[in-house]
Amino acid sequence: MLNIELLRQDFPILASQVYARPLVYLDNAATTQKPKAVVEAITRQYYSANANVHRGVHHLSEVATDLLEQSREKVRAFIGARSTSEVIFTRGTTESLNLVASSLCSTFHEGDEVIVTAMEHHSNIVPWQLQCERRGLRLKVLPMTDEGELLLDRLDSLITDRTRLISVAHVSNVLGTVNPVADIISRAHSAGVPVAVDAAQSVPHFPVDVTELDCDFLAFSGHKIYGPTGIGVLYGKEKWLEKMPPYQGGGEMISSVSFEHTEYERLPYKFEAGTPDYVGANALGVALDYLQSIGGMAEIHAYEADLTRYAMQKLAGIDRLHLYGTSPNKDAVVSFLVDGIHHLDMGTLLDRLGIAVRTGHHCAEPVMTRLGISGTVRASFSFYNTREEVDQLNEGILRVMQMF
Ligand code: PMP
Repeated sequence: MLNIELLRQDFPILASQVYARPLVYLDNAATTQKPKAVVEAITRQYYSANANVHRGVHHLSEVATDLLEQSREKVRAFIGARSTSEVIFTRGTTESLNLVASSLCSTFHEGDEVIVTAMEHHSNIVPWQLQCERRGLRLKVLPMTDEGELLLDRLDSLITDRTRLISVAHVSNVLGTVNPVADIISRAHSAGVPVAVDAAQSVPHFPVDVTELDCDFLAFSGHKIYGPTGIGVLYGKEKWLEKMPPYQGGGEMISSVSFEHTEYERLPYKFEAGTPDYVGANALGVALDYLQSIGGMAEIHAYEADLTRYAMQKLAGIDRLHLYGTSPNKDAVVSFLVDGIHHLDMGTLLDRLGIAVRTGHHCAEPVMTRLGISGTVRASFSFYNTREEVDQLNEGILRVMQMF
Protein backbone atom coordinates (compact mmCIF):
# COMPACT_ATOMS: atom_id res chain seq x y z
CA MET A 1 0.00 0.00 0.00
CA LEU A 2 1.31 3.44 -0.93
CA ASN A 3 1.63 5.88 1.93
CA ILE A 4 0.39 8.97 0.12
CA GLU A 5 0.85 11.46 2.95
CA LEU A 6 4.47 10.41 3.26
CA LEU A 7 5.04 10.31 -0.50
CA ARG A 8 3.71 13.83 -0.93
CA GLN A 9 6.61 15.06 1.18
CA ASP A 10 8.93 13.90 -1.60
CA PHE A 11 7.33 16.57 -3.84
CA PRO A 12 7.96 20.00 -2.25
CA ILE A 13 5.86 21.84 -4.84
CA LEU A 14 2.71 20.03 -3.63
CA ALA A 15 2.90 21.98 -0.38
CA SER A 16 2.75 25.33 -2.18
CA GLN A 17 -0.14 27.76 -2.22
CA VAL A 18 -1.82 29.50 -5.15
CA TYR A 19 -3.99 32.55 -4.47
CA ALA A 20 -3.48 31.78 -0.75
CA ARG A 21 -5.05 28.35 -1.16
CA PRO A 22 -3.34 24.98 -1.02
CA LEU A 23 -2.42 23.81 -4.51
CA VAL A 24 -4.51 20.96 -5.89
CA TYR A 25 -2.45 19.81 -8.85
CA LEU A 26 -4.60 17.87 -11.33
CA ASP A 27 -2.65 18.47 -14.52
CA ASN A 28 -0.46 15.39 -14.42
CA ALA A 29 -1.20 14.30 -17.99
CA ALA A 30 0.50 17.52 -19.13
CA THR A 31 3.46 17.06 -16.84
CA THR A 32 4.14 15.49 -13.46
CA GLN A 33 5.82 17.11 -10.49
CA LYS A 34 9.32 15.96 -9.59
CA PRO A 35 10.41 14.17 -6.45
CA LYS A 36 13.40 15.55 -4.54
CA ALA A 37 15.47 12.55 -5.64
CA VAL A 38 15.19 13.64 -9.29
CA VAL A 39 15.93 17.33 -8.67
CA GLU A 40 18.86 16.43 -6.41
CA ALA A 41 20.29 14.02 -8.99
CA ILE A 42 20.39 16.86 -11.53
CA THR A 43 22.17 19.21 -9.10
CA ARG A 44 24.52 16.46 -7.95
CA GLN A 45 25.54 15.64 -11.47
CA TYR A 46 26.24 19.25 -12.43
CA TYR A 47 28.25 19.72 -9.23
CA SER A 48 30.20 16.48 -9.30
CA ALA A 49 29.87 14.46 -12.50
CA ASN A 50 29.49 16.86 -15.38
CA ALA A 51 31.47 16.17 -18.56
CA ASN A 52 30.54 15.36 -22.11
CA VAL A 53 29.88 11.67 -22.59
CA HIS A 54 31.38 8.89 -24.74
CA ARG A 55 34.24 10.93 -26.16
CA GLY A 56 36.41 11.64 -23.14
CA VAL A 57 39.27 9.58 -21.77
CA HIS A 58 39.21 11.52 -18.53
CA HIS A 59 37.64 10.46 -15.27
CA LEU A 60 34.65 12.81 -15.23
CA SER A 61 33.67 11.87 -18.75
CA GLU A 62 33.75 8.21 -17.78
CA VAL A 63 31.56 8.87 -14.75
CA ALA A 64 29.05 10.82 -16.85
CA THR A 65 29.06 8.10 -19.53
CA ASP A 66 28.49 5.41 -16.90
CA LEU A 67 25.52 7.34 -15.50
CA LEU A 68 24.01 7.68 -18.97
CA GLU A 69 24.48 4.02 -19.83
CA GLN A 70 23.24 2.86 -16.42
CA SER A 71 20.11 4.88 -17.04
CA ARG A 72 19.65 3.25 -20.43
CA GLU A 73 19.79 -0.10 -18.66
CA LYS A 74 17.21 1.10 -16.11
CA VAL A 75 14.87 2.13 -18.94
CA ARG A 76 15.45 -1.21 -20.67
CA ALA A 77 14.51 -3.12 -17.53
CA PHE A 78 11.55 -0.81 -16.80
CA ILE A 79 9.91 -1.48 -20.18
CA GLY A 80 11.12 -5.06 -20.53
CA ALA A 81 13.19 -4.54 -23.69
CA ARG A 82 15.58 -7.31 -24.68
CA SER A 83 18.62 -5.11 -25.19
CA THR A 84 19.86 -1.59 -24.47
CA SER A 85 20.58 -1.25 -28.19
CA GLU A 86 16.80 -0.98 -28.57
CA VAL A 87 16.56 2.00 -26.18
CA ILE A 88 17.13 5.40 -27.82
CA PHE A 89 17.15 8.62 -25.83
CA THR A 90 15.21 11.44 -27.49
CA ARG A 91 13.71 14.76 -26.38
CA GLY A 92 10.34 13.17 -25.67
CA THR A 93 7.39 11.35 -27.20
CA THR A 94 7.09 13.93 -29.96
CA GLU A 95 10.66 13.50 -31.09
CA SER A 96 10.44 9.71 -30.76
CA LEU A 97 7.43 9.59 -33.09
CA ASN A 98 9.04 12.05 -35.50
CA LEU A 99 12.12 9.85 -35.57
CA VAL A 100 10.08 6.80 -36.56
CA ALA A 101 8.08 8.84 -39.08
CA SER A 102 11.04 10.38 -40.88
CA SER A 103 13.29 7.38 -40.76
CA LEU A 104 10.93 4.43 -41.26
CA CYS A 105 8.73 6.22 -43.82
CA SER A 106 11.79 6.87 -45.97
CA THR A 107 11.67 3.13 -46.74
CA PHE A 108 8.00 3.39 -47.86
CA HIS A 109 6.73 4.03 -51.37
CA GLU A 110 4.08 6.28 -52.89
CA GLY A 111 0.63 4.87 -52.15
CA ASP A 112 1.75 3.06 -48.98
CA GLU A 113 -0.51 3.50 -45.97
CA VAL A 114 -0.16 4.40 -42.31
CA ILE A 115 -3.05 3.85 -39.90
CA VAL A 116 -3.65 5.94 -36.76
CA THR A 117 -6.73 6.18 -34.58
CA ALA A 118 -9.42 8.79 -33.97
CA MET A 119 -8.04 9.58 -30.53
CA GLU A 120 -4.45 10.52 -31.27
CA HIS A 121 -2.49 13.43 -29.87
CA HIS A 122 -1.27 15.77 -32.62
CA SER A 123 2.20 14.33 -32.18
CA ASN A 124 0.90 11.01 -33.49
CA ILE A 125 -0.85 12.64 -36.44
CA VAL A 126 1.24 15.47 -37.83
CA PRO A 127 4.56 13.56 -38.23
CA TRP A 128 2.71 11.06 -40.45
CA GLN A 129 0.97 13.83 -42.38
CA LEU A 130 4.34 15.42 -43.09
CA GLN A 131 5.51 12.12 -44.53
CA CYS A 132 2.28 11.72 -46.50
CA GLU A 133 2.90 15.10 -48.14
CA ARG A 134 6.54 14.34 -48.79
CA ARG A 135 6.20 10.78 -50.03
CA GLY A 136 2.64 10.45 -51.31
CA LEU A 137 1.60 8.12 -48.48
CA ARG A 138 -1.97 7.75 -47.28
CA LEU A 139 -3.10 8.27 -43.68
CA LYS A 140 -6.07 6.19 -42.57
CA VAL A 141 -7.98 6.52 -39.33
CA LEU A 142 -9.53 3.85 -37.11
CA PRO A 143 -12.75 5.42 -35.77
CA MET A 144 -14.10 5.44 -32.22
CA THR A 145 -17.47 5.35 -30.46
CA ASP A 146 -19.16 8.23 -28.61
CA GLU A 147 -17.90 6.69 -25.38
CA GLY A 148 -14.34 6.93 -26.64
CA GLU A 149 -13.59 3.32 -27.52
CA LEU A 150 -11.91 2.25 -30.72
CA LEU A 151 -14.03 0.38 -33.26
CA LEU A 152 -11.62 -2.50 -33.35
CA ASP A 153 -13.80 -4.53 -35.73
CA ARG A 154 -13.02 -1.99 -38.42
CA LEU A 155 -9.28 -2.56 -38.19
CA ASP A 156 -9.08 -5.68 -40.32
CA SER A 157 -10.82 -3.98 -43.23
CA LEU A 158 -8.61 -0.88 -42.92
CA ILE A 159 -5.46 -2.98 -43.26
CA THR A 160 -4.55 -3.60 -46.91
CA ASP A 161 -1.48 -4.93 -48.65
CA ARG A 162 -0.25 -1.32 -48.76
CA THR A 163 -0.39 -0.84 -44.98
CA ARG A 164 3.14 -0.28 -43.70
CA LEU A 165 2.56 0.82 -40.10
CA ILE A 166 -0.10 1.29 -37.42
CA SER A 167 0.63 3.97 -34.83
CA VAL A 168 -1.69 4.08 -31.85
CA ALA A 169 -2.04 5.80 -28.47
CA HIS A 170 -1.87 3.34 -25.61
CA VAL A 171 -3.96 5.70 -23.46
CA SER A 172 -5.86 8.72 -24.78
CA ASN A 173 -4.73 11.96 -23.15
CA VAL A 174 -8.26 13.38 -23.48
CA LEU A 175 -10.51 10.42 -22.76
CA GLY A 176 -8.27 8.25 -20.62
CA THR A 177 -9.30 5.20 -22.67
CA VAL A 178 -6.80 2.38 -22.40
CA ASN A 179 -6.70 1.02 -25.94
CA PRO A 180 -6.46 -2.72 -26.59
CA VAL A 181 -2.96 -2.41 -28.04
CA ALA A 182 -2.07 -6.08 -27.54
CA ASP A 183 -5.05 -7.02 -29.69
CA ILE A 184 -4.19 -4.36 -32.29
CA ILE A 185 -0.61 -5.62 -32.41
CA SER A 186 -1.59 -9.24 -32.91
CA ARG A 187 -4.06 -8.32 -35.69
CA ALA A 188 -1.45 -6.11 -37.34
CA HIS A 189 1.27 -8.72 -37.08
CA SER A 190 -0.89 -11.37 -38.64
CA ALA A 191 -1.01 -9.05 -41.68
CA GLY A 192 2.76 -8.45 -41.41
CA VAL A 193 2.32 -4.83 -40.29
CA PRO A 194 4.47 -3.30 -37.50
CA VAL A 195 2.92 -1.22 -34.70
CA ALA A 196 4.18 1.90 -32.94
CA VAL A 197 2.70 2.68 -29.52
CA ASP A 198 2.44 6.22 -28.17
CA ALA A 199 2.91 5.35 -24.52
CA ALA A 200 3.12 8.95 -23.20
CA GLN A 201 0.07 8.35 -21.00
CA SER A 202 0.54 4.66 -20.20
CA VAL A 203 4.12 4.08 -19.08
CA PRO A 204 3.70 6.61 -16.21
CA HIS A 205 0.61 4.81 -14.89
CA PHE A 206 0.87 1.04 -15.22
CA PRO A 207 3.39 -1.69 -16.01
CA VAL A 208 4.20 -1.78 -19.72
CA ASP A 209 6.35 -4.57 -21.10
CA VAL A 210 7.39 -4.16 -24.72
CA THR A 211 8.39 -7.79 -25.11
CA GLU A 212 5.07 -9.03 -23.78
CA LEU A 213 3.15 -6.53 -25.93
CA ASP A 214 5.36 -7.38 -28.89
CA CYS A 215 5.11 -3.78 -30.15
CA ASP A 216 7.63 -2.73 -32.76
CA PHE A 217 8.13 0.82 -31.42
CA LEU A 218 7.13 2.55 -28.21
CA ALA A 219 7.53 6.20 -27.27
CA PHE A 220 7.28 8.06 -23.97
CA SER A 221 8.37 11.30 -22.29
CA GLY A 222 10.51 11.67 -19.18
CA HIS A 223 8.61 14.68 -17.85
CA LYS A 224 5.33 12.78 -17.65
CA ILE A 225 6.92 10.07 -15.54
CA TYR A 226 8.43 12.26 -12.79
CA GLY A 227 11.66 12.84 -14.71
CA PRO A 228 12.94 16.11 -16.18
CA THR A 229 11.77 17.86 -19.33
CA GLY A 230 13.74 17.46 -22.54
CA ILE A 231 14.35 13.73 -22.26
CA GLY A 232 12.33 10.88 -23.68
CA VAL A 233 12.61 7.37 -24.99
CA LEU A 234 12.05 5.52 -28.21
CA TYR A 235 12.06 1.77 -27.96
CA GLY A 236 12.40 0.02 -31.30
CA LYS A 237 12.88 -3.61 -32.23
CA GLU A 238 16.42 -4.13 -33.44
CA LYS A 239 15.22 -5.65 -36.71
CA TRP A 240 13.57 -2.33 -37.65
CA LEU A 241 16.20 -0.01 -36.21
CA GLU A 242 18.93 -1.84 -38.13
CA LYS A 243 17.05 -1.28 -41.41
CA MET A 244 16.16 2.36 -40.73
CA PRO A 245 18.45 5.19 -41.87
CA PRO A 246 19.67 7.72 -39.27
CA TYR A 247 17.26 10.45 -38.24
CA GLN A 248 19.83 13.21 -37.77
CA GLY A 249 23.50 13.39 -38.64
CA GLY A 250 26.33 14.70 -36.50
CA GLY A 251 28.72 13.64 -33.79
CA GLU A 252 28.14 10.50 -31.69
CA MET A 253 26.14 8.71 -34.41
CA ILE A 254 29.12 7.82 -36.63
CA SER A 255 31.97 5.37 -36.45
CA SER A 256 34.01 7.01 -39.21
CA VAL A 257 33.59 10.03 -41.47
CA SER A 258 35.33 11.10 -44.64
CA PHE A 259 34.09 13.43 -47.34
CA GLU A 260 33.47 10.40 -49.50
CA HIS A 261 31.79 8.08 -47.04
CA THR A 262 30.42 7.86 -43.50
CA GLU A 263 29.98 4.72 -41.44
CA TYR A 264 27.26 4.92 -38.82
CA GLU A 265 27.62 3.89 -35.19
CA ARG A 266 26.00 0.73 -33.93
CA LEU A 267 22.60 0.87 -32.21
CA PRO A 268 21.35 2.80 -30.35
CA TYR A 269 23.95 5.52 -31.05
CA LYS A 270 23.10 5.62 -34.76
CA PHE A 271 19.96 7.51 -33.68
CA GLU A 272 21.56 9.77 -31.06
CA ALA A 273 23.33 12.50 -33.01
CA GLY A 274 25.06 15.21 -31.00
CA THR A 275 25.61 15.60 -27.27
CA PRO A 276 22.70 13.86 -25.60
CA ASP A 277 20.87 15.22 -22.59
CA TYR A 278 22.97 12.99 -20.38
CA VAL A 279 21.93 14.80 -17.19
CA GLY A 280 18.27 14.42 -18.12
CA ALA A 281 18.79 10.77 -18.99
CA ASN A 282 20.44 10.09 -15.65
CA ALA A 283 17.65 11.91 -13.82
CA LEU A 284 15.05 9.88 -15.75
CA GLY A 285 16.73 6.72 -14.47
CA VAL A 286 16.52 8.15 -10.95
CA ALA A 287 12.78 8.81 -11.47
CA LEU A 288 12.27 5.17 -12.51
CA ASP A 289 14.23 4.01 -9.42
CA TYR A 290 12.00 6.23 -7.32
CA LEU A 291 8.82 4.65 -8.74
CA GLN A 292 10.14 1.17 -7.98
CA SER A 293 11.19 2.23 -4.48
CA ILE A 294 7.73 3.48 -3.52
CA GLY A 295 6.02 0.24 -4.53
CA GLY A 296 6.29 -0.14 -8.30
CA MET A 297 3.91 0.43 -11.19
CA ALA A 298 1.34 -2.23 -10.24
CA GLU A 299 0.79 -0.56 -6.84
CA ILE A 300 0.71 2.87 -8.44
CA HIS A 301 -1.85 1.66 -10.96
CA ALA A 302 -4.11 0.12 -8.32
CA TYR A 303 -4.16 3.38 -6.36
CA GLU A 304 -4.68 5.63 -9.40
CA ALA A 305 -7.39 3.37 -10.86
CA ASP A 306 -9.31 3.60 -7.61
CA LEU A 307 -8.90 7.38 -7.55
CA THR A 308 -10.07 7.66 -11.17
CA ARG A 309 -13.18 5.55 -10.45
CA TYR A 310 -13.88 7.72 -7.41
CA ALA A 311 -13.55 10.90 -9.49
CA MET A 312 -15.79 9.55 -12.24
CA GLN A 313 -18.48 8.59 -9.71
CA LYS A 314 -18.25 11.90 -7.91
CA LEU A 315 -18.44 14.04 -11.04
CA ALA A 316 -21.19 11.89 -12.58
CA GLY A 317 -23.34 13.01 -9.64
CA ILE A 318 -23.19 16.66 -10.71
CA ASP A 319 -26.26 17.83 -12.58
CA ARG A 320 -25.55 19.35 -16.03
CA LEU A 321 -22.04 17.90 -16.06
CA HIS A 322 -21.08 15.69 -19.04
CA LEU A 323 -18.21 13.27 -18.87
CA TYR A 324 -16.21 12.52 -22.01
CA GLY A 325 -14.46 9.19 -22.16
CA THR A 326 -16.64 6.73 -20.30
CA SER A 327 -15.02 3.46 -21.27
CA PRO A 328 -14.69 1.11 -18.29
CA ASN A 329 -11.09 0.66 -19.46
CA LYS A 330 -9.84 4.06 -18.52
CA ASP A 331 -6.98 5.51 -16.61
CA ALA A 332 -6.12 8.63 -14.63
CA VAL A 333 -7.84 11.17 -16.92
CA VAL A 334 -11.28 12.70 -16.42
CA SER A 335 -12.62 15.09 -19.09
CA PHE A 336 -15.85 17.01 -18.68
CA LEU A 337 -17.99 20.00 -19.61
CA VAL A 338 -20.79 21.69 -17.73
CA ASP A 339 -23.79 22.98 -19.70
CA GLY A 340 -23.55 26.70 -20.30
CA ILE A 341 -20.00 27.11 -18.96
CA HIS A 342 -17.11 27.41 -21.38
CA HIS A 343 -14.20 25.10 -20.52
CA LEU A 344 -11.84 28.06 -20.32
CA ASP A 345 -14.08 29.84 -17.79
CA MET A 346 -14.34 26.67 -15.72
CA GLY A 347 -10.56 26.21 -15.75
CA THR A 348 -9.84 29.83 -14.91
CA LEU A 349 -12.27 29.88 -11.99
CA LEU A 350 -11.06 26.52 -10.65
CA ASP A 351 -7.55 27.97 -10.76
CA ARG A 352 -8.71 30.81 -8.50
CA LEU A 353 -9.67 28.10 -6.01
CA GLY A 354 -6.17 26.64 -6.21
CA ILE A 355 -7.19 23.77 -8.49
CA ALA A 356 -4.93 23.25 -11.52
CA VAL A 357 -6.71 21.57 -14.43
CA ARG A 358 -6.20 21.86 -18.17
CA THR A 359 -8.75 23.17 -20.65
CA GLY A 360 -9.03 23.20 -24.43
CA HIS A 361 -8.42 20.61 -27.12
CA HIS A 362 -5.44 19.02 -25.34
CA CYS A 363 -3.52 18.77 -28.63
CA ALA A 364 -6.14 16.35 -29.93
CA GLU A 365 -8.41 18.51 -32.10
CA PRO A 366 -9.78 15.55 -34.10
CA VAL A 367 -11.17 14.11 -30.85
CA MET A 368 -13.03 17.39 -30.27
CA THR A 369 -14.35 17.39 -33.83
CA ARG A 370 -15.51 13.78 -33.42
CA LEU A 371 -17.34 14.66 -30.20
CA GLY A 372 -18.73 17.92 -31.61
CA ILE A 373 -17.18 20.14 -28.92
CA SER A 374 -14.43 22.75 -28.89
CA GLY A 375 -12.65 21.54 -25.79
CA THR A 376 -13.00 19.97 -22.37
CA VAL A 377 -11.88 20.55 -18.83
CA ARG A 378 -9.43 17.80 -17.95
CA ALA A 379 -8.39 16.63 -14.50
CA SER A 380 -5.57 14.10 -14.59
CA PHE A 381 -4.18 12.16 -11.68
CA SER A 382 -0.97 10.94 -10.14
CA PHE A 383 -0.39 8.65 -7.18
CA TYR A 384 0.23 11.76 -5.07
CA ASN A 385 -3.35 12.94 -5.54
CA THR A 386 -5.95 12.08 -2.93
CA ARG A 387 -9.69 11.56 -2.59
CA GLU A 388 -9.77 14.82 -0.62
CA GLU A 389 -8.41 16.59 -3.69
CA VAL A 390 -11.09 14.99 -5.86
CA ASP A 391 -13.66 16.24 -3.32
CA GLN A 392 -12.15 19.72 -3.63
CA LEU A 393 -12.49 19.51 -7.41
CA ASN A 394 -16.10 18.43 -7.00
CA GLU A 395 -16.85 21.33 -4.64
CA GLY A 396 -14.93 23.71 -6.88
CA ILE A 397 -17.07 22.78 -9.89
CA LEU A 398 -20.25 23.28 -7.83
CA ARG A 399 -19.02 26.72 -6.71
CA VAL A 400 -18.23 27.76 -10.27
CA MET A 401 -21.70 26.57 -11.33
CA GLN A 402 -23.25 28.76 -8.65
CA MET A 403 -21.41 31.80 -10.04
CA PHE A 404 -23.02 31.34 -13.46
N1 PMP B 1 1.13 11.66 -26.94
C1 PMP B 1 0.29 11.79 -25.92
C2 PMP B 1 -0.81 10.77 -25.75
C3 PMP B 1 0.45 12.83 -25.01
O1 PMP B 1 -0.39 12.95 -23.99
C4 PMP B 1 1.50 13.76 -25.20
C5 PMP B 1 1.69 14.94 -24.26
N2 PMP B 1 0.52 15.62 -23.95
C6 PMP B 1 2.36 13.58 -26.27
C7 PMP B 1 2.14 12.52 -27.11
C8 PMP B 1 3.50 14.50 -26.53
O2 PMP B 1 4.44 14.45 -25.51
P1 PMP B 1 5.65 15.46 -25.43
O3 PMP B 1 5.05 16.82 -25.56
O4 PMP B 1 6.26 15.21 -24.10
O5 PMP B 1 6.56 15.14 -26.56
